[in-house]
Amino acid sequence: MNKRDYYEVLGVSKTASQDEIKSAFRKLAKKYHPDVSKEPNAAEKFKEAQEAYAVLSDESKRRQYDQYGHSAFTNASGGFSGFEGFDFGSMSDIFEDILGGMGFGFGGSSSRRSTNRARSGNDVLYHMTISFDEAVHGCKKDISLDITDTCPECDGKGGFNSKTCPDCHGSGTITSEQRTMFGSFLSKTTCPRCGGTGTTFERTCTKCNGRGSIKVKKTITVNIPAGVDNENRIRLSGKGEAGINGGPNGDLYIEFTVEEHELYKRSEDDIYIELPISIPDAVLGVKVEVPTIYGKVDLLVPAGTQSGSKLKLRGKGIENVITHRKGDMYVVIKVVIPTKLTKEEKKIFENLKDTMKEDKGILSKIKKFLNN
Ligand SMILES: [Zn+2]
Ligand SMILES: [Zn+2]
Repeated sequence: MNKRDYYEVLGVSKTASQDEIKSAFRKLAKKYHPDVSKEPNAAEKFKEAQEAYAVLSDESKRRQYDQYGHSAFTNASGGFSGFEGFDFGSMSDIFEDILGGMGFGFGGSSSRRSTNRARSGNDVLYHMTISFDEAVHGCKKDISLDITDTCPECDGKGGFNSKTCPDCHGSGTITSEQRTMFGSFLSKTTCPRCGGTGTTFERTCTKCNGRGSIKVKKTITVNIPAGVDNENRIRLSGKGEAGINGGPNGDLYIEFTVEEHELYKRSEDDIYIELPISIPDAVLGVKVEVPTIYGKVDLLVPAGTQSGSKLKLRGKGIENVITHRKGDMYVVIKVVIPTKLTKEEKKIFENLKDTMKEDKGILSKIKKFLNN
């Protein structure tokens, strides 16, 4: 195999400085890196440049090469051995420079950062059904949650007596050489032993198996404010799942479903109630007792009240959960028309009909319309 001269490959003189060699290789690597290059034979050109740089950037290897040429790195079987024992650290920053700048990730340094980052725990949403009275007046409720919480045994650390991780020596990443058909690459991955934290423990916590968090059944007392409505949510800050790597806890959200009441209907902060009254009461007026959410009140239904009329009880509605202003209560009058009459009642209605013949209301208008 005819090898080109390493100086020729990099396009530098025999007396080139390390800076010139480095910058020449940087240019070639940028041009021929198989991940980014569109040049023909990029892979071979890249491998050739990499090999030349591996030798010329190392002063002792360069001296051997200057003295013996390619034979200095050719082993007995004729294969190239120049890469053996070569320190790839010096090349990795060049790759990172090239690929990082072009939007390619190189190695594991960025993923290591995200693994180590303190993150807040997950938020938790809890659905709660409460009665109408509980929603209107507010209440306290204990809820039981299966939730990820900081391990109380190790205080979230995952173990006891921390020490520097022996596998990655505290860096959190493992650097290994990867040989591919394009040549050798430096590969960085998150240290599997310490998970990128750089520390391990002399004794792993057995309660959480080193995770730092455990699933627990937690009882939380929730103060439900007066006035909550369907689909309202309240937030209990920091009551969600435990944070990761020392991050803050997530939040607990409680969403309400309010059961219907047998008498009251809610519309925003107002309450509606239907009140059936008899024909004589509607005609003559009546004083009735009405149940409000704050107790009974007397209500005067005035004489001549129509069916469907709404009588307002100011301030007897629901306290707004934010403004604390109270809504109103509306009593909707429903005049009950009897369907079964005694003989005596029928007689009274017939007499009533005779006396009300002179009606000048809507019925006379209809009669007039029919006769035309
Ligand atoms: Zn633990
Ligand atoms: Zn490690």
